[in-house]
Amino acid sequence: MSRTTLFSIVRQKNIASVLKVLHLERRASRARISSLTGISRSTVSNIISKLEKLQIVEYTNERRDPSLVGRPGVSLRLNPKAFYALGIEINVFTSRAMLVGLDGGVIGKQDIELNGRSNPDQVLSILAEVADQVISKSGTDRERIIGIGVSFMGLTDHTKGIVIRSTSLPEWNRVNIVEGFQERLAFPAYVENNANAMVLGETRFGIGRGKNNVLGVAIDEGIGGGIIINKRLYMGSHAAAGEIGHMSIVQAGPLCHCGNRGCLRTLTSESAVEANAIRIFKTGVKTLLRDREHFDYMKITVQDVIAAARRGDTCCKDIISEAGWYLGKGLVNLVNVLNPEMVILNEGPLPSFEPFFEEVKKTIAEGSYAGKLGTPELAISALGEDAVCVGAASVVMDRLLAGNEK
Ligand SMILES: [Zn+2]
Repeated sequence: MSRTTLFSIVRQKNIASVLKVLHLERRASRARISSLTGISRSTVSNIISKLEKLQIVEYTNERRDPSLVGRPGVSLRLNPKAFYALGIEINVFTSRAMLVGLDGGVIGKQDIELNGRSNPDQVLSILAEVADQVISKSGTDRERIIGIGVSFMGLTDHTKGIVIRSTSLPEWNRVNIVEGFQERLAFPAYVENNANAMVLGETRFGIGRGKNNVLGVAIDEGIGGGIIINKRLYMGSHAAAGEIGHMSIVQAGPLCHCGNRGCLRTLTSESAVEANAIRIFKTGVKTLLRDREHFDYMKITVQDVIAAARRGDTCCKDIISEAGWYLGKGLVNLVNVLNPEMVILNEGPLPSFEPFFEEVKKTIAEGSYAGKLGTPELAISALGEDAVCVGAASVVMDRLLAGNEK
């Protein structure tokens, strides 16, 4: 079974619809496939027989919802070994390539310390080589690799694969990432924003599995967001949806690199916490941050602030709780508009620091207009550092089944 066979059968609308249900639901009975697609039971059975012969689907006793009790019925799922997708994550410091099965299982991966701000052409070549090594080491048949999903820190034109705007990696503006990988690796390639990839990975295979409406938030140097509506990424009309870091929160707040003032990322992000700590340090206030000799205060990191807060430093505790409060306020606006079932924060120094997490949670609960009914569960990524790459790989199947096969 090769990817060209798959590309050819997904052009048949009914087959694509059946595969889409199995991709989004992860497992489903024939009856459920029939009810979700509107395709008759007998046609579903014929399609399943065909897909079973091709070893694309298989039977499983695993429950769709593990919380249900009673005898599990036999249902169908995509054969995780039928096909694989490559996930590639382009970052500022450490980039990564990963080979992922249709069940989100990681078959192989490799990290590489790479200056993402150096020449994009060279970075593309190095990452293509790394991806090639991951495939070779895994021993996977290349014919079973359906494509490459690339995660990028910035706004991209996902139909053309071109970077539109990136503040983290400005050297990449106008670079065609999709062509860059297609030329080097000869697989169909797709590009997606990193926060979108994170929330997609978590919704398909992580903590948000089974949820329909999810908001994903990546807190790092800035703030990124991804919105899942009815199990699908909400892209907006120019694929620019989810830029929650640039929501206007404070009228005369700090200047953001986008040109506006008081954007969420200037109030709650790793760089916002660091800027606040430096500003407060300069006032001469008493803080444990001064404990170290020959300490260059201009290089205070978010980890320094968290470490001091853990040791009881009031000043650092306040900086963290203010950042948590601002994130909570920003998320309350989104929660009241989108009413998601779950908000997923990335695994990182701030979200994983309990006082920060609790402040965000409390602020969302207090500001939720619909009260308890409208307050989503706040969770931290279950896939951790794999979330973005697994999500990027998942983009391949998403786009293929949406009719974007190449
Ligand atoms: Zn901004």
